[in-house]
Amino acid sequence: MSGKRVAKANLPTRTCTVCQRPFTWRKKWSRVWDEVLYCSDACRRRRQPKSQPITEPRGRE
Ligand SMILES: [Zn+2]
Repeated sequence: MSGKRVAKANLPTRTCTVCQRPFTWRKKWSRVWDEVLYCSDACRRRRQPKSQPITEPRGRE
């Protein structure tokens, strides 16, 4: 009887880049864990993608 058994304590954790709170690996993130940066959808929405150009009012150019 030597099966691999993963305890909950061994689950990876990460710090949310928005609220700076640690969150734990979830099963639904098993395939995208490397891409998960936020603890929740709310934080993901708060964070605006940096790739978007900043729109500034044009006046003196
Ligand atoms: Zn968060």
